[in-house]
Amino acid sequence: MMIVAGVIWLAHIGVVSVFHGAGRGPLLSDVVQVTLGAMLIYSIVQASERSEGMAISFWRLAAVAYTLLFVAQVLSVYNDLFHAAAVGWTNNLLFSFWFVPLAMAIFLDPEHEAGKIDTVVALDFVQGVLFCVAAYLYFFLIPKTQSGELSHEVWAPYFVGYAFVVGAFILRAAITRSRDVRVLFGRVGAFLALSGFIDALYYYGPGMGLQPGTWFDLLWSALLIAPMIIANIWKQTEAPQLTLELPQREKRVYMEISFLIYPLLVLFMSLRIARERLGLAALVVVCSFVCSSARLLVTQHRLLRAKEALRREASRDGLTSLWNRKAILGILERELLRAERDRQSVGLIMIDVDHFKKINDTRGHAAGDAVLRIIATGIAAMVRPYDSVGRIGGEEFLIVAPNCDLGRAWELAERVRVHVASCSIMAAGSAVRVSLSLGVATSGTSAELEKLLHAADTALYEAKNAGRNRVEPSLGRAVAASQGSSSAPNRDFWI
Ligand code: GH3
Ligand code: MG
Ligand code: MG
Repeated sequence: MMIVAGVIWLAHIGVVSVFHGAGRGPLLSDVVQVTLGAMLIYSIVQASERSEGMAISFWRLAAVAYTLLFVAQVLSVYNDLFHAAAVGWTNNLLFSFWFVPLAMAIFLDPEHEAGKIDTVVALDFVQGVLFCVAAYLYFFLIPKTQSGELSHEVWAPYFVGYAFVVGAFILRAAITRSRDVRVLFGRVGAFLALSGFIDALYYYGPGMGLQPGTWFDLLWSALLIAPMIIANIWKQTEAPQLTLELPQREKRVYMEISFLIYPLLVLFMSLRIARERLGLAALVVVCSFVCSSARLLVTQHRLLRAKEALRREASRDGLTSLWNRKAILGILERELLRAERDRQSVGLIMIDVDHFKKINDTRGHAAGDAVLRIIATGIAAMVRPYDSVGRIGGEEFLIVAPNCDLGRAWELAERVRVHVASCSIMAAGSAVRVSLSLGVATSGTSAELEKLLHAADTALYEAKNAGRNRVEPSLGRAVAASQGSSSAPNRDFWI
């Protein structure tokens, strides 16, 4: 492909030196550019097929941009043949703003892009299109240039916009952690800078006033071959990795600033458009505003969802999915307050797994973890729907049972004890029998939270001292555990 492109470029040199911009020169020159444009689009499509993740979106946007440029080139061939004024205008618009879809690549998230363009990026794209509309009105409709060419004074803002895009690409290459993304954004940024420089040479430098088909067309052709080289040598080296880690805060702020550029430019251009066409300017501004607001809503919605997920994560224990220590103590406090108001009592059951260290020592920590998960599931299955279960330490659990006196709390604890003791858990190839020691206490006043915890803890300590696998109520009254229930296992778990 690159050899063919090189041969075509040499042929272009031949066309320019033979015709010197006269006769069939301009037409042949345009045909060369159309051919190179088609080859470039083909190279980009090939590059996107070799890509994964964010790079796919990047190349697709590049394909859209170069298709616009290709249409402009085809129209310019048509114009060379038939001299249609309307085509000239469209042509100019496309030549001026073909790079906007490529500029949308700035908004792709290199570290979190899953290979598809998401809603926010799509909204940014719409904003980019609105920018094109505003720019069209600003550059073409308002200056009312008769020739169909852009007048010189309106090129200055064009170059400012272009410089923004180049700067954003280079900034993006500098801040990313991904090597592939740095290569992609860096090379395309450098190419866009070169392309802008050649544009400047054409409008302000030696290219000024040159006719189509002259030596300057060789530079335009070279500007099609350069991205073709970038697309052909592109090789993805990293698998797309969706990191959960967020970029540093300052980097995120820089990115957010870039989202403001388009609406700001639209607003700026609409100020001048409004002097001539108030209705049109208002329409553009309203659309841009709707787009920005939709973006804000989508971002807000995502933030709320993330906040909710975080809150859920923050109150759950990672291993067992029961409430964590902080959450279950919060629940206990709330239930005590409610019990105080309703003149009822809250039952508190503190649980410790017996000889758990032995399981870890003989079967390994991973098996120990699995046993803990099964015990947690067993405890949660035995409580009433309005009771809460939390993990307050390594192998320690807490049940908060609202509206429960000491007798009922004891019954509940006993039910849990019997259930777990009757389970046979297959861990690391052999059966493990686990038992629990449980301390029960009750209270009906919120001021007694610490005392209640202490009472349950003391009762648990007594259950341990009295031989384990038993329930001990507070007040020092030893209630014998029904040892008979721990006979044959009636449930098997395999891990
Ligand atoms: P006792 O009957 O007196 O309670 O004996 P024990 O072995 O259960 O008590 P001890 O407090 O000596 O040991 C608790 C063990 O629990 C020690 C620790 O390695 C283990 N452990 C704590 N958290 C975890 C965990 O998250 N996973 C695993 N696998 N083990 C844990
Ligand atoms: Mg313990
Ligand atoms: Mg223990």
